[in-house]
Amino acid sequence: MIQETKSKFIKVRCAECKNEQIIYSNVSTPVTCLVCKKELASPTGGKTKLAGRILEVLE
Ligand SMILES: [Zn+2]
Repeated sequence: MIQETKSKFIKVRCAECKNEQIIYSNVSTPVTCLVCKKELASPTGGKTKLAGRILEVLE
């Protein structure tokens, strides 16, 4: 059985240092800001919890 998951990339801005970073919308491990190491996204039971602000959704 092939399972297809629809996922996309989103551009978020770090609330801490304003760094803009493109991350995957379906994270399986926490994603941290490359500049200040603040957590930008974390997996919470199938959904992604975003800490930063979404600037753009790239499909
Ligand atoms: Zn940051």
